[in-house]
Amino acid sequence: MPSPILRFAPSPNGLLHLGHAYSALFTSLWAEALGGRFLLRIEDIDITRSKPEFTAAIFEDLAWLGLAWEEPVMRQSDRFAIYAAAADRLKRRDLLYPCFCSRAELAAHASGTDPDGAPLYPGTCRHLPPGEARRRLEQGVEANWRLKTDDAVALTGVLTYSVAGPTPADRPQIRYARPERWGDVVLQRKGTPTSYHLSVVVDDDAEAVTHVTRGRDMEPSTDIHVLLQMLLGLGSPLYTFHKLILDAEGRKLSKSKGSPSLRSLREAGRTAEEIRRQLGF
Ligand code: GLU
Repeated sequence: MPSPILRFAPSPNGLLHLGHAYSALFTSLWAEALGGRFLLRIEDIDITRSKPEFTAAIFEDLAWLGLAWEEPVMRQSDRFAIYAAAADRLKRRDLLYPCFCSRAELAAHASGTDPDGAPLYPGTCRHLPPGEARRRLEQGVEANWRLKTDDAVALTGVLTYSVAGPTPADRPQIRYARPERWGDVVLQRKGTPTSYHLSVVVDDDAEAVTHVTRGRDMEPSTDIHVLLQMLLGLGSPLYTFHKLILDAEGRKLSKSKGSPSLRSLREAGRTAEEIRRQLGF
């Protein structure tokens, strides 16, 4: 049995809020219960939204909450070449294709929605005349590279993953992955050689993560993660999906809805002890 390795992997595109604090504390306590290691990973692939001051704030807020993590901390922005190499392996198997559609075109031609409520891609660029995609790439037109999800699933066959919880002592349950409901997901975004899905599976494997703990709202993306793990020969961790922290209107906390940051709570005089107690730890 490998030694348990868990991680908290925030994106530094804003200040952390109580939802992040819950996830970080949950993960660190789960690691402690298993006698495992707790890692921190900075998921800063979005070069337009990630800011060094938010990364600095993550370290400050987590230390204030009383968390300790191992050094060195992995930063995804150091690893673009590794993600590009993983995508190249899929390209060589003809499992990715370039998509030149704009956001407006996507919204106009969507064929339903994915589990996140985003428009499902109708496959327009998958059916470009032969040579046309190559011509546009040679002209330097930027593309999103999409996975041929149905072809990929035909290769891997039925996919399952294991969900642990609600406590570390409970027996894991097997669930079926349904990658098809996401359509042809983007694995490399215009201007970056990767995407959340690609980086997260490559890095969880690179860090030998055995247990992934994240909010319940992220369970559907496991469909894509297990598909990529199978295609790329990467490890498949045990998953745990924890509850979400909601605001007074019952909405999930978020940077964009202006949920109070841990920093603002600290500046207003709240102590780390109070925050931990409020979150049930
Ligand atoms: N970086 C992602 C976020 O902050 C989560 C990472 C993960 O647990 O997969 O939402």
